[in-house]
Amino acid sequence: MDMLQLSALELSRKIRSGEISVKEAVSGYREQMQKMEPQVHAFLSVDDDKLEKRIQEVEEGIQSGRYQGPLAGVPIAVKDNICTKGQKTTCASRILENFVPAFDAEAVKRLEEAGMIVLGKTNMDEFAMGSTTETSAFGVTRNPWNTEHVPGGSSGGSCAAVAAGEAVLALGSDTGGSIRQPAAYCGVTGLKPTYGRVSRYGLIAYASSLDQIGPVGRNVKDCAALFEVLAGHDEKDSTSSGQTLESWEELVSGGMQGMKIGVPEEYFAEGTDEEVKKALTDAMELMRQHGAQVEYFSLGMVDYVIPSYYIIACAEASSNLERFDGVKYGYRSPEATELHEMYKKSRAEGFGEEVKRRILLGSFVLSAGYYDAYYLKALKAKGMIKKAFDDAFAKYDCILAPAAPTTAPKIGTSLSDPLQMYLSDIYTVAVNLAGLPAVSLPCGKDSQGLPVGMQIIGDCFQEKKILRAAAAFEVLRGPFPMAWEKEEM
Ligand code: GLN
Repeated sequence: MDMLQLSALELSRKIRSGEISVKEAVSGYREQMQKMEPQVHAFLSVDDDKLEKRIQEVEEGIQSGRYQGPLAGVPIAVKDNICTKGQKTTCASRILENFVPAFDAEAVKRLEEAGMIVLGKTNMDEFAMGSTTETSAFGVTRNPWNTEHVPGGSSGGSCAAVAAGEAVLALGSDTGGSIRQPAAYCGVTGLKPTYGRVSRYGLIAYASSLDQIGPVGRNVKDCAALFEVLAGHDEKDSTSSGQTLESWEELVSGGMQGMKIGVPEEYFAEGTDEEVKKALTDAMELMRQHGAQVEYFSLGMVDYVIPSYYIIACAEASSNLERFDGVKYGYRSPEATELHEMYKKSRAEGFGEEVKRRILLGSFVLSAGYYDAYYLKALKAKGMIKKAFDDAFAKYDCILAPAAPTTAPKIGTSLSDPLQMYLSDIYTVAVNLAGLPAVSLPCGKDSQGLPVGMQIIGDCFQEKKILRAAAAFEVLRGPFPMAWEKEEM
């Protein structure tokens, strides 16, 4: 059997039993990368020397019994805003083009302690700001299903890598949908954990109150197993939670019999593609047939989610990105002759358009005269959005929704109209504002053959409910092919 067809859990099993060596596994993915990268461009960097050493370490670790976990030996792609010691971490920005962190992010440390291998760093929207991976300073990533289309964003590189068979698992980050939406566009599975579940230490901040690292994979079980590796308290992140977590096997077990699932009727409004609606209603029907109680309800607050999100996210970004001043990190303009000019030129030359737009917007909403009118109001709306979800979860175990109003748009169409791009985040951002967990998985294809994704949203720390429902749905749906398994790729 072709190794690339194995899930991460199967691959690790074969590695631990000696059927496949760690070296063979890594080489298999390296070969696939060589084949796919010219069309897809999911990766920004691969450090072959580091990989060599790590392969050896993992081979030995598995033999000595140090690495025994269910993902030991598995190579994983890591989004380029997650710090890797001694390996470039650029945030797909000129300003960090040559930044080499002196430490690993906690998430990376945990991967390595589980015997996993960082395969390479993946492309993304610059500083995770975007929904298409087109704002990267280092070129766009293409959707492996159809390379004229975007992979979604901002974790477009991570999701495209999995869809193209260049990695079996990946790490993404989700501030307003950046794991779920590209997962939907690329036909893979992605989990945005409850805020605080996974340490943000070493995740380069976009909007700290919303950012969360999470897994991307071929299926729900692989994502659950990786989630178990990542989750848990970390004293280096004061917002990280010590809530206990079930094992991945428990997270995905139980079936959907008797589950109460609410579907916000507002999410089926005008603007949502008919084919997306159709795929979702088919999924609802399938769930009903298998014992779930699925009904529409009114969630409310939908008109407020985009403005609140963009105000809060940009406000936090303007503050977080202050540190990139040409002194402490990354790019320094060679032109400047005095200090202030150096700051200005370094930032003007180092940041791309979209990042500058958001810094301006964020500085504006935080400025003395406008703070109450915009930022404070957005915080109030955020409270009301959380309340709307609290009310929903008093009635339902989970909420089912489209991950995005359309399937992947063509490259170039979103860049010309930033507002339109912001509006496409309508179904994902509320989850981050309320700190909730949500999993996105494929539920069909449109008439162009592009995947349609749905998300299952849960109450805080209820990953068990959403993963259980997702795993059960996955069995009913049947295996969803990866893009590279198509004949023509
Ligand atoms: N598209 C959203 C934004 O541009 C979400 C990005 C993200 O989740 N990192 O802000």
